[in-house]
Amino acid sequence: MYTLQLVNRDYPLASHFVPSHLTQDKQSRIWVCKVALKAFRALNKGLEKKGLSSLFLISGYRPYAYQERLFERKKQVFLKQGLDDKAAYNKASQIIAPPGCSEHQLGLAIDVATWSMKDLEDPLIISFGETKEGCWLQNYAPYYGFILRYPLDKTTITGVSYEPWHYRYVGKEHALTMQKRQFTLEEYTNFLKKESF
Ligand SMILES: [Zn+2]
Repeated sequence: MYTLQLVNRDYPLASHFVPSHLTQDKQSRIWVCKVALKAFRALNKGLEKKGLSSLFLISGYRPYAYQERLFERKKQVFLKQGLDDKAAYNKASQIIAPPGCSEHQLGLAIDVATWSMKDLEDPLIISFGETKEGCWLQNYAPYYGFILRYPLDKTTITGVSYEPWHYRYVGKEHALTMQKRQFTLEEYTNFLKKESF
């Protein structure tokens, strides 16, 4: 099922893959899959109801070519430091997903910041996880179909460092099951595969 599609270094997307039903968020001008944008709006309403800050989209859908540019830029930094091509690639890939390996290309992943953080030079900061909004998200985002995709205690499974700002839409039912069982998407898709035998 598309909403559960696993994308990582082991399961990259083809360079020509573009999700269908992309739609643009008016506030941020960010593109996301329609189903994820709708859920994001509902989630923001949930935050507001609790008297918390609604969130601003910093990143959503990222085309393959864009990820390629991001990655290349990072790789160049390491090449300039004197690393050879392979070492520069490896070092860059510890920080940025290589092209095809970012789930942002799916259109179902969002990076978020509070309104007060959104204008920082780098609005995606670890301390977001300790804000009231960040804490609320970790507990309640699954009710809106989102999961914290790269938790602190699962970095060896996801292969990605803790990103409190990165949420992935999987749908409410799956998100709640994953939360209950403390599964990452890697673990959950693996679990579903075994269940179906
Ligand atoms: Zn992200």
